Amino acid sequence: MQGLRVHITGIVQGVGFRPFVYNLATRLKLTGWVKNTSAGVEIEVDGKKDILDIFVQKLRDEAPALSSIDEFSASFRPASGFSSFDIRHSESVDGAFQPISPDVSICPDCLRELFDPSDRRYHYPFINCTNCGPRFTIIKDIPYDRPKTTMAGFPLCPDCEREYTDPTNRRFHAQPVACAVCGPKVWLESGSQVEGQRSLSGDDAIAETRRLLSDGKILAIKGLGGFHLACDATNEKAVTELRNRKLRVDKPFALMMPDIQTVEQHCFVSDAERELLQSTARPIVLLKKKPESTIVEEVSPRQDWLGVMLPYTPLHYLLFTDHYPLFTALVLTSGNLSEEPIATDNDDARKRLSKLADAFLMHDRDIHIRCDDSVVRVLEVGKLGNGRLVPNSQSTDLPIYPIRRSRGYSPFPVKLPFDVPQLLAAGSELKNTFCITNGNYAFLSHHIGDMENYETLRSFEQGVEHFEKLFRVKPEAIACDLHPNYLASIYASERAERENLPLFQIQHHHAHIAACMAEHRLNEPVIGVSFDGTGYGEDGAIWGGEFLVGDYKSFQRAAHLEYFPLPGGDAAIRKPARTALALLWSLGLEWDERLDSVAEFSTEDLVVLNAQLERKINTPMTSSMGRLFDAAAALAGVRQKVNYEGQAAIEFEALADPAEAGMYSFGVESGLVGVRGVVEALVKDAAAGISIQKISARFHNGLAESVRETVAKISTETEIRSIVLSGGVWQNITLIGRTLALLKKDGFKVYIHREVPTNDGGLSLGQAAIASTRLRG
Ligand SMILES: [Zn+2]
Ligand SMILES: [Zn+2]
Repeated sequence: MQGLRVHITGIVQGVGFRPFVYNLATRLKLTGWVKNTSAGVEIEVDGKKDILDIFVQKLRDEAPALSSIDEFSASFRPASGFSSFDIRHSESVDGAFQPISPDVSICPDCLRELFDPSDRRYHYPFINCTNCGPRFTIIKDIPYDRPKTTMAGFPLCPDCEREYTDPTNRRFHAQPVACAVCGPKVWLESGSQVEGQRSLSGDDAIAETRRLLSDGKILAIKGLGGFHLACDATNEKAVTELRNRKLRVDKPFALMMPDIQTVEQHCFVSDAERELLQSTARPIVLLKKKPESTIVEEVSPRQDWLGVMLPYTPLHYLLFTDHYPLFTALVLTSGNLSEEPIATDNDDARKRLSKLADAFLMHDRDIHIRCDDSVVRVLEVGKLGNGRLVPNSQSTDLPIYPIRRSRGYSPFPVKLPFDVPQLLAAGSELKNTFCITNGNYAFLSHHIGDMENYETLRSFEQGVEHFEKLFRVKPEAIACDLHPNYLASIYASERAERENLPLFQIQHHHAHIAACMAEHRLNEPVIGVSFDGTGYGEDGAIWGGEFLVGDYKSFQRAAHLEYFPLPGGDAAIRKPARTALALLWSLGLEWDERLDSVAEFSTEDLVVLNAQLERKINTPMTSSMGRLFDAAAALAGVRQKVNYEGQAAIEFEALADPAEAGMYSFGVESGLVGVRGVVEALVKDAAAGISIQKISARFHNGLAESVRETVAKISTETEIRSIVLSGGVWQNITLIGRTLALLKKDGFKVYIHREVPTNDGGLSLGQAAIASTRLRG
């Protein structure tokens, strides 16, 4: 007889790990115990040496699908003389922490039970088990046990209790376990616009919700991480009404479709996309729309793709139940007004969404932390890195390109290439996420949103507090963007001063490159190509077309897009025609009335704009690639005003003719990517009536070529062969596809984002990596 002690860390709680250990140990006739602690899972067993070896092997090989083992240590010791195998009570270890599982979509077993009339949870909208259900959004503290979740207020009925305490049951220690007798309930409330609506509950509430949706009504539906606003996606009137009420112009809405067959009726779906849609994270996947799709144009105006997800909660499945095939696709957009945070609390939703929704499908399981749907796309470009984003063993090699990393992924950590101090990185202004570090883990937050109002700032502060508590972090330093006026930067500097902590203000594009380096565990100098809309530069200008050489510690600006003036700053962002005219002015090119961008202004406005440029009134200089895209789209005649950031560039890309091989020359010189050549050629083409499709392709081709030339020059000087692409402009699939092809042909090693977004949603990871390196000196 021999004793064995095992310690396992990683995602091993809330994923059925203890019952797995229990069943394995009893099958092998071992005695001892297993328990959760805030530091992981501890196991002690007695048995014959060769059986213990098998036990260790099987612990690793047969671990539950949702678990993810980071560290595994096993050591022999004398036998303790245990007489049985037990599951012991969880224990809190001072200062210790564990990664926490993201929320997990309903599993096949629960789905079968949901639609089995003989099952006691038939049509129960909150059915779940150890393999599925809410996690992150209901957890208040660790170790993960029911009293520390928002399920604490639902005492188990005898039937659920029996399942919960039976180690051979699928619901053994499934913390959110519940049934219609003891668990949360759904009900329907009338909004302001459906008169005399009775309050219904259970199946009746869901059936009435379906009827209202098929009748063209807009419903607020409480989900896993917050409220959604829903309507029939094939009903033009309903979708237009939703846009009007939400004050959201043009920006695409996400869709939910009942099954993969329906998705394939509306969109082209590759194998990788199918796998991603069906993965347990159930993100919104961006897919090419089929011409015959009946989804109304108003869902995603002037774009050739749709953001689609499959149902991920039992309630969603009930909404689509085939007894009532009333609609094939729902718009499911976040329950908020324009840029506010998504509503999570019932009272808050009643208050904030009453003018937006005709009725509310409510429930009483509280959402402790809001979590928006994730958005990803598949980017297949040969063997480039891998898709580690999906936190379970099922889909680790998917070529994922994240756009928004939130529900289903957060708070799964990114593992850093080195141990780091405890830090908080506050992130950016737009698409904010923050990041806290502990050990070699970087815990990137869920999507917080655009930090432009008090509500979002509050949501940010609550999120930071929650993460620091969950992962037992007391920051030794704080990192933020170099821009002093970002709300996240103000929070960071005030807190650093109050708590007497070092503050690291990190240049925006350096953080982008470091984020991509960190997720690929790179720890060597690279050439970073950081293209985006706006980032505060070290010289006070607005940067955004940057070629950096450096590592985590520091960087040099090896080259950048030629500066041009941005009259009115934000006004130019809303009106690309202003940027277009400023660009012409700075190059000494004529404001030709035949150009759409010029025709957009009255003669008086042109005089005012000219004076503003001459006198440099509120006209910052910029090297922003995002703004160059805006200007090019405006000059080509795509659009002169935008309703959301990046709209002109997105529509410009959608028009690019894939068969066009011509290109505009950017004129790459030492340290500078010129704009004269491209603007002159583009204006000439536009005046000659060349199609926007060709102009767009020539612009994209030329830009990719200019990246290749610039990178080649820098590489010759520095002998660096590793290239990192990061920044929001790289969401442009046409541009990144062409650039990657060129750089790979030249034999460079190219890294793109696979775990965190290439846009500002990934910035805080880079800030954390840089600050930790600087803190260690
Ligand atoms: Zn399940
Ligand atoms: Zn029950």
